[in-house]
Amino acid sequence: MSNHFEYRDGLLYAEDIPVEELANQYGTPLYLYSRATLTRHYRVWTECLSEEDMICYSVKANSNLGVLSLLAKLGSGFDIVSGGELERVLAAGGDPARIVFSGLGKTAEDMQRALEVGVHCFNIESIPEMELLNQVALEQGQLAPVSIRVNPDVDAKTHPYISTGLKENKFGIDISQAGDIYQRAADLEGLSIVGIDCHIGSQLTELSPFLDALDRVLDLVDSLGEAGIQIEHLDLGGGLGVTYESETPPSPAELCAAIKTRMGDRPQQLIFEPGRSIAGNAGILVTEVQILKSTEAKNFAVVDAAMNDMIRPSLYGAYMNITEVNQNSNSPEKVWDVVGTVCESADFLGKDRKLKIAEGDLLVQHTAGAYSFVMSSNYNTRGRAAEVLVDGNQSHLVRERETVADLLRGEHVL
Ligand SMILES: *Cc1c(COP(=O)(O)O)cnc(C)c1O
Repeated sequence: MSNHFEYRDGLLYAEDIPVEELANQYGTPLYLYSRATLTRHYRVWTECLSEEDMICYSVKANSNLGVLSLLAKLGSGFDIVSGGELERVLAAGGDPARIVFSGLGKTAEDMQRALEVGVHCFNIESIPEMELLNQVALEQGQLAPVSIRVNPDVDAKTHPYISTGLKENKFGIDISQAGDIYQRAADLEGLSIVGIDCHIGSQLTELSPFLDALDRVLDLVDSLGEAGIQIEHLDLGGGLGVTYESETPPSPAELCAAIKTRMGDRPQQLIFEPGRSIAGNAGILVTEVQILKSTEAKNFAVVDAAMNDMIRPSLYGAYMNITEVNQNSNSPEKVWDVVGTVCESADFLGKDRKLKIAEGDLLVQHTAGAYSFVMSSNYNTRGRAAEVLVDGNQSHLVRERETVADLLRGEHVL
């Protein structure tokens, strides 16, 4: 899906503002998000669904309050995986009745709070979790709406760290046992069964794993129906991939059309939990070249962003495009490893990249809107980057750069 980070006469713009201007104003490393891109991606999803269906944006992909509040205004629901994410959605003005609560280790406190605010549904991943939720609901005199996350044992054909729908993964309940577990849920007085949920992985670039999972889920819906358990919604999770290099994932429209064909005239509401496909290419990471260092074997461009700001290359071996902010440079083109200053050899943003750069130049890492800032840390006592949301020719600082004082807060000397 296209985005609003484009070159004009060799200069990169974020919507209508030159990226260089934003880097001067807010400093680097800097995350930039595009309001128009986020809006477009949300709409692309809703356009292929019916009025009753629901997009629950996966908060963990990019949980900045600016991003969440924008999506809340568009009417998005939210998929959360922790009590902290619940508070973020509420702080951003999200509608609790459009929240689905995923995650395999919900605490009693998380459950109490989610019941109190009235979430749409709890996605349950184990029997102990189901029993705990039942107990919490009974204590509060409430009925907890539940859906069971089934593990359909399909290969999402993605990176092993982001595959979740195989038998050996920790997520969900084996689909072959799900019938029995729905029966148990039906017997628990604090629970009300509302749906079935399945999320098989992230960065999927083919339709077939989604459809294989759906076929298994629909078999289960049918057999539950025969046993007298009616399912109101099918939550098919997130997982649709984006283009980092040359991947060609299906569009949301293609995915929805294929799913609707298989659904036939079944009445269930559809829920999707997209994260990456909404936020991924709605963000970039801007960084400044600090030092150019050539050794016998390699040319290193040492930049001011590091693995604490962007861990995807180190964690998943992820490839992300890196380009010059100003492509009109006179510097000779060379092959560079773009690296941070953290004391780990895994600290790189990209290897063997052809770039025309000099010290002080700005580089941009593309498709950095999802699973990027949210995974940043303070390793090496580095403050986390600023985040800015661009809207046409306006920019909004949606997260301040962390200072050293922020990092030391809460610690005590002996
Ligand atoms: C991470 C996650 C998602 C979002 O996945 P994307 O690949 O970002 O679309 C959706 N649902 C659950 C349960 C998740 O854990």
